[in-house]
Amino acid sequence: MFGVRAGSAFDGERVVPGGALVLLDDGRIVGVEPGSAPAPDGCEVLEVPGGTVLPGLVDAHVHLCGDGTDGTLDRIGEPSQDGMTAVIGESLRRHLAAGVTTVRDLGDRRFAVLDWRSSAESGGGVYPTVVTAGPPITSVGGHCASMGGEVAGEDQLRGAVQERAERGVDVVKVMTSGGFATTGTQALLCQFVLEELRGVVDEAHAAGLPVTAHAHGLPAVHMAMAAGVDGIEHCSFLTDKGPSQSEEDLARLAEAGTAVCPTLGFAGIPVPKPNAAALLSKLGMTFEQVAELNKRRVGRMHAAGVRVISGTDGGIAAAKPHGLLPLSVAFLVEGGVSTVAALATATSLAAAACGLGGRKGRLRAGYDADLLVVDGDPIADIGVLARPAAVFAGGRRPAGAA
Ligand SMILES: [Zn+2]
Repeated sequence: MFGVRAGSAFDGERVVPGGALVLLDDGRIVGVEPGSAPAPDGCEVLEVPGGTVLPGLVDAHVHLCGDGTDGTLDRIGEPSQDGMTAVIGESLRRHLAAGVTTVRDLGDRRFAVLDWRSSAESGGGVYPTVVTAGPPITSVGGHCASMGGEVAGEDQLRGAVQERAERGVDVVKVMTSGGFATTGTQALLCQFVLEELRGVVDEAHAAGLPVTAHAHGLPAVHMAMAAGVDGIEHCSFLTDKGPSQSEEDLARLAEAGTAVCPTLGFAGIPVPKPNAAALLSKLGMTFEQVAELNKRRVGRMHAAGVRVISGTDGGIAAAKPHGLLPLSVAFLVEGGVSTVAALATATSLAAAACGLGGRKGRLRAGYDADLLVVDGDPIADIGVLARPAAVFAGGRRPAGAA
């Protein structure tokens, strides 16, 4: 048995007054005691009186096949299979170093993440738990088509879902609008029609899989809502005059319980692709202005009761590196979400959206021993979340880490 005692604690939902002594054994949390409780006889304890213990973070939107450099998705076909295995391993190490112990991959190169997960490599080290969608389903030449998920027509869409279910994915990802990472696609336009998207949802639900839909443009967001998807990525409500997020739409999203992952946060200013640059000039706004607007828009979404979860889109560009999640959570706080609620979006709520609500995202006996200890109190200052003092994944600490 091993213990972690911190002067402050967040249990995935709320602050634990007086901190906590979290006891770990055999990869599980076996007890969450008051911060002042004596350690069991012979139990070694990591003492962090000035720190905070919380559940390991969950990043609900990553691309492990992307190496976090500009143009990486355009080059995604280039690495050999061994090269891709190395990229995925390095991506996961960066998440873990930032305190992220679970990731949901929402777009890989032709099931490379699924292959990695079933390889000997994944058992050979300490890694975050990986939930994966395989290649995102997209239109011919559509958003992220280079990942290998192009289809046309309802039969092929249904077939693509069946193939993913047979291979063993955990979630189905579908691109309902164009995006900013793929030149030639239009973020404001739909890539499919409602009947086709309904086919995807039907087929996935019949196989017991949730569906999450990438949607930037307002028509795509409306289509995703009408089709009954379980989650919406970005959910930008974008029009050519800027975001158009109505109270009615927010009420409907909140009522449906749809998990919305806004993928907030940038490390620096991204280099826009031509389609993103064209949209910015149409809006007459700078990137910084759009990012600021977006933060506050997501804050209003959260205030309206929408089930917002945290995720980063990590890996797709230099401004979207792996391990960005603490910054993404800080962006939520800047958008008006309380620190406690923002931390829940990156722990218990994200874990539930990943289908892991029964074993991850909370400090609770019986849950996986995934812990993050930070130096300071993130409730008082969310910036502290980016200062990991110790990370445990399944009770194990990564080699060479803090
Ligand atoms: Zn993405």
